[in-house]
Amino acid sequence: MAVHVKILTETVANKIAAGEVVERPASVVKELVENSIDAGASDIRIDISAGGRRMIRVSDNGHGMSREDALLSLERHATSKISADTDLDTIDTLGFRGEALPSIASVSRLRLKSRLAGTIEGTEIAVEGGTVRSVTACGMPAGTELTVEQLFYNTPARLKFMRSSETEASHTGELIVRLAISRPEIGFGYYNDGKEILKVTAGDLQQRLKKVAARDIPLFSFYGETAAATVNGYFAPPTAARSTAAGMYTYINNRFIRDKVVQHAIMQAFRAVLEKGRYPLLALFIKVNPGDVDVNVHPTKHEVRFRQQAQVHDTIQGVLEDVLRESPWLENRQNIARPIASSEPLPLKSRHQAGVQQALDRFMSKPSPELQRINEPDASYSRPEQKTVPVEISATTGYFSSLQIICQFRAAYIICQADDRLVIIDQHAAFERVRFEQLKKGFLSGGVESQRLLIPVTLELSFTEAETARRYRDVWTPIGFDLDEFGGLTWRINAVPRIVALKDYEGLFRDILTELQQHGSSASFELVRDELLARVACHSVVRGSHILELVEMRELLKQMDSTDFAAQCPHGRPVSFEITLKELEKTFNRS
Ligand code: ADP
Ligand code: MG
Repeated sequence: MAVHVKILTETVANKIAAGEVVERPASVVKELVENSIDAGASDIRIDISAGGRRMIRVSDNGHGMSREDALLSLERHATSKISADTDLDTIDTLGFRGEALPSIASVSRLRLKSRLAGTIEGTEIAVEGGTVRSVTACGMPAGTELTVEQLFYNTPARLKFMRSSETEASHTGELIVRLAISRPEIGFGYYNDGKEILKVTAGDLQQRLKKVAARDIPLFSFYGETAAATVNGYFAPPTAARSTAAGMYTYINNRFIRDKVVQHAIMQAFRAVLEKGRYPLLALFIKVNPGDVDVNVHPTKHEVRFRQQAQVHDTIQGVLEDVLRESPWLENRQNIARPIASSEPLPLKSRHQAGVQQALDRFMSKPSPELQRINEPDASYSRPEQKTVPVEISATTGYFSSLQIICQFRAAYIICQADDRLVIIDQHAAFERVRFEQLKKGFLSGGVESQRLLIPVTLELSFTEAETARRYRDVWTPIGFDLDEFGGLTWRINAVPRIVALKDYEGLFRDILTELQQHGSSASFELVRDELLARVACHSVVRGSHILELVEMRELLKQMDSTDFAAQCPHGRPVSFEITLKELEKTFNRS
């Protein structure tokens, strides 16, 4: 049978393009809202009905379009945003492919209304399945309004894949949240069947996040820059972590992205404070030269390619680690937990607190013999075996040292107080974190100790593995590996990091290779190293119950203040737990 090559008609080509760009109502909203943002709108309203299956409308107060431009915008590859391929290197708009409007128009009934600011009348264009049905004049405020009805009415296969109205509406909601975070200076309104779902007015990033993603959750800012990238944003404390990555809002040059390299860098930094399987809540903005990132990898532009992948990765990780190391969420509380030694009176909010204050005053004016002993560092005193000792007066600063030790509970928990909070510390977790950070410091300052293998191990690598091993030749020695290229794809391991000498170093070697391939920076060694160190730390410190002297408890708290990532044990479990007076009163039905 003879086969002939034909050029596809415009309509078919648009439908094919729609297959890539328009997956569901949320993708239509994405394209339309991005156009509104690119048009300089300061206010964008999104209406949908039946989850967008029946109708989607996006209206903006942007610069609008003339009648000619409005007609042209529906043609394939019609865009006002670039004109030459070199412009691709300096893109600062969200769109540039000129595909969205014709694609959407080809799979729906679309009405475009637009009025250029400064002109008297607007234009209304009706399109059905990609064919223009009418062009009329209309009255409207300056700006643009696009209405998409009966999405996929002419593509039954796609129609079948649409989910319930609720599911589609929530996809759209999540999409709007992502866009709203990227432009706090723009007001957004989102309505489903006339009901307000989200309404935000112009503000700054922190306000916007509080409104759409982190209600009632404290946020901490970060900022840092290297030659490769500038990174800034906000993150929530580890207690606000999620079980999915949905709370990780990441942007490259203000465009929302889901990128493996970026995600990896974030997780590397948060590894120290999060348990396995937990993901941080954060908004992270990366700025790079437009020429240093390719956003044209996929039509939806969620994937990107960095020119300096490894540097961008390390910038993100470094900036986040710097701020996480300080555990600012503890510092935050420290402002509230003032040492009682201060002469300032405590704010008295209730009768109960007044009682607490009186009790404290009693201790402060007439220290008991026991308390005097506590304040003499060298004095020896009885073990506080689960019995209450007077609160300790402390002049030291830092969250942990400012706590007043009350007693030890079941030889496993240290019970303290800070202002109007009861603080319970898991002593094993605390010891573990202190020891772990000490081990790591020693490890880092001495470099990685290497150990010769009695019998060198030969390995068969794949082409890419061998290529990677060769390309990153410089990384192996500092981390304790000694390798030989044996010929072909055969490699020999002569020495390995001592810390993994009895472990599965071959697995470690291959993991590092994979990491290098994927992320251009070796993370798995750190990961494995940290895991081993955490295990060593765990076994080298007080396990289970163990009665501690008051000095020992105090010393532990002091060390915690000079320890990085002090709020969590090396496995990411929290070290301390607080109960406020209010919560306590509630338990006793007193409030
Ligand atoms: P792209 O955004 O990639 O340029 P689109 O198909 O999404 O392609 O839009 C085509 C053109 O229509 C845009 O380049 C822009 O000039 C114009 N346009 C689309 N939506 C709007 C809007 N809301 N306000 C003003 N102009 C718009
Ligand atoms: Mg567009």
